[in-house]
Amino acid sequence: MTQPKRFSPGATIGVMGGGQLGRMFAVAARRMGYRVHIFSPEADGPAAQLSDRATVASYGNQQAVRRFAREIDLLTFEFENIPAVTIEWAAREQIVRPRGEILHIAQNRLREKKFLAGAGFPVAPFRRVAGVEDLKSALDEIGRPAILKGAAFGYDGKDQERIEPEADAAAIWAARSDQECVLEGVVDFEKEISVIVARGPDGATAVVPVCENIHRDHILDLTLAPARIEPQVATTACDLARSVAESLDLVGLLAVEMFLKSDGALIINELAPRPHNSGHWTIEGCVTSQFEQHVRAVCGMPLGSTGLLRPSAMVNLLGDVWSGGEPNWAGALSEPNVHLHLYGKREPRSHRKMGHLTAMAATVEEASAAALRARKRLLER
Ligand code: AMP
Repeated sequence: MTQPKRFSPGATIGVMGGGQLGRMFAVAARRMGYRVHIFSPEADGPAAQLSDRATVASYGNQQAVRRFAREIDLLTFEFENIPAVTIEWAAREQIVRPRGEILHIAQNRLREKKFLAGAGFPVAPFRRVAGVEDLKSALDEIGRPAILKGAAFGYDGKDQERIEPEADAAAIWAARSDQECVLEGVVDFEKEISVIVARGPDGATAVVPVCENIHRDHILDLTLAPARIEPQVATTACDLARSVAESLDLVGLLAVEMFLKSDGALIINELAPRPHNSGHWTIEGCVTSQFEQHVRAVCGMPLGSTGLLRPSAMVNLLGDVWSGGEPNWAGALSEPNVHLHLYGKREPRSHRKMGHLTAMAATVEEASAAALRARKRLLER
């Protein structure tokens, strides 16, 4: 058997996408001696600011995509909403890890759910909805309340609504612009957790300790690690994530978001074949961060230890923190165990992820209290 291709420090890793995930990936990669070339439609974005090179072009520009792909040694991506055809163009010139097919599955909720259900993984009951009649029959089959989500390009709860028992299906469908949706049964969960798994081209895997996630307005607000769950639930969650990565034949990083029900059952909600917001705490809290692990996995290097260094908590900083003027950075940093990460975005819009704070302490409760205290201090001007 031929050995999978390995890329050593000095190689240039191309990254499609220019946001904060690419930024933190670039920091990890460059620290290890790799060169990073970003492809993004946005000039001077979060990733480009900290990379060796950036190509600014649209994902629809085939010539630019193929030229970029020839200038790098391998390609990965930092967000999944890159048109599948863009990855196809790049794949004609270059090795793409994870492979484009995985991106194609993950960028559409229906494809993702079909893949998971087809491979025997636990998901909420779901139906495809492409018209008002579909919606009515899906509601009859799944029951109410239910959640209607756009099939394409959904993240952070955008494009989704809960359908209550008394709601008028025809009016709901008329108000939507989507061509295709997924109707899902509401899962009565106790906790939301995520598992981030890395898998190398040789099939080796490494799983980050399970993260416990608390959302606000459908956006991740707080992550606690390790999750406060029974050890056997954590083991099952990690095994599940590893099996999904294997079923996809993933090379790279995969975040698996799950609901934990009160009876201990786990339901997979979403997949993201890239670093994940719920894994940002690993920069300080784990022996190997999710970003370094992504570099190692796509480069075919041995994966690092995912041992927990200390219980950790991460809080997101959305643009809203800026609403009363410049945040009080010194106030937040007066918490000695808190680390500040800002993504270099110039415009602090409401609900826009601008940065995060990570705290480490003897327990996740103490870490979370410190992170929340630090965020509150940002507002004390
Ligand atoms: P998503 O965009 O699918 O990640 O959904 C955003 C958030 O909505 C999740 O983190 C959950 O809090 C909630 N949610 C999504 N789908 C369901 C579901 N089937 N049952 C209950 N809550 C859900």
